[in-house]
Amino acid sequence: MTFDGFARAELENFFRRQEERGKFYCSTCLVVQLTRRGARKVVPVAWTAAIEEAFVQPGRLPVRFDRPCEACKKHRPTIGVEPLNREVSGQEIVGSLKLNP
Ligand SMILES: [Zn+2]
Repeated sequence: MTFDGFARAELENFFRRQEERGKFYCSTCLVVQLTRRGARKVVPVAWTAAIEEAFVQPGRLPVRFDRPCEACKKHRPTIGVEPLNREVSGQEIVGSLKLNP
């Protein structure tokens, strides 16, 4: 794996943490969060590169334009993960339809 690939994988790992569910950060705040709490081996400039790439090619991490950043509350493009309960409620609707014809 390249170093950029490592930073990108760590970025996705960060958003898999339970406490980050449903939170969206702008690129500036995400660099701060990852520098404080992400893998120690990754320097801020590498986080910045990985985050900029993630905004261009979000992959599994959705980019949102309709909600403010979790940290600075500014309206900027943000990236993060959808809250888990949204996925669960979708499954519950499907399940209840099957159970109650
Ligand atoms: Zn922010």
